[in-house]
Amino acid sequence: AAKSVGGDRWAWFDPIMDQLAATDALLGANLMQAIGRDELFLLYQPIVELPDGRFAGVEALVRWRHPEHGLVSPAVFIPLAERNGYIVELGRWVLEQVIRQAAAWQREYGDRAPAKVSVNISARQLQEPGFPAELAALLAREGADPRGLVAEVTETAVLGTGAALDAVKAISALGLRVALDDFGTGQSSLSLLVDCPAQILKVDKSFVDGVTTASPQAVIVDSLIAITEGLRIEAVAEGVETAEQAERLHRAGYRLAQGFHFARPLPAEDVALLIDADRARPAQDGVGAGHSG
Ligand code: C2E
Ligand code: MG
Ligand code: MG
Ligand code: MG
Repeated sequence: AAKSVGGDRWAWFDPIMDQLAATDALLGANLMQAIGRDELFLLYQPIVELPDGRFAGVEALVRWRHPEHGLVSPAVFIPLAERNGYIVELGRWVLEQVIRQAAAWQREYGDRAPAKVSVNISARQLQEPGFPAELAALLAREGADPRGLVAEVTETAVLGTGAALDAVKAISALGLRVALDDFGTGQSSLSLLVDCPAQILKVDKSFVDGVTTASPQAVIVDSLIAITEGLRIEAVAEGVETAEQAERLHRAGYRLAQGFHFARPLPAEDVALLIDADRARPAQDGVGAGHSG
């Protein structure tokens, strides 16, 4: 019966693939109820200035607490949501939370609020015809200044369709900055830097991983800083895990970084503590505290 439908015979005859498909379907079905059951939440990973690690912004990262499986990685459930279409609803939920949070920080901290509150936008969201209008309505409703927000999109998402590129242009016209995420790992085309109104380029962790060795990755990291400087785009090094990497990136000309070496993704309350700490810093310097360690 089932095996005659669609000609997906390979999956049918491979028990492991069959099991994976079943798990995928089950998890997918669970995911479609995650918002209603209050199982999703956001963490915010700090983006910092090099070399001192001063707080510069955050990236919102969604988490799913599954009732039986515990925390499921977005590396698993985001692709799943993209396949079953739930990403549109999930993405809308994320956007609403992030814009509300950004507006709250803007009200509370004024010009000391995070300069960058980044949110990941998936290809499917960009292709929704009403997406820019929906974004504009959310910004107005929550009273958020769009200049404090960054839309992270991947090369592959933008190159997917003409509609996606138009959406990115519309987002940019609303006043948000656009970041090209995981740069260098998608269907990279340097012409994207010509056609797409990106103000930020996030250099993928896979290149940062090799930055302290004599490697092709290190050459790419150095070349990208030359490109971004020439184009007056900001570069953010992703996935910085060691002091050596941070130091090497700074010497290469990087001013911004993100990674476990500086901070893990945190609940919003902990971000507030970081903003408070940064606010206190100039006073400490004035006291002549010397080396901060
Ligand atoms: P991304 O946008 O490139 O986000 C950065 C990922 O790298 C995050 O993984 C973050 O926790 C991780 N990371 C940061 N620093 C380090 C480090 O030093 N070492 C290592 N090993 N990892 C580091 P996470 O949160 O698991 O998210 C994975 C991906 O899932 C994201 O990659 C993004 O593509 C997607 N994603 C997460 N949240 C959302 C969302 O709200 N919407 C959409 N559409 N995608 C999301
Ligand atoms: Mg991202
Ligand atoms: Mg990234
Ligand atoms: Mg990445």
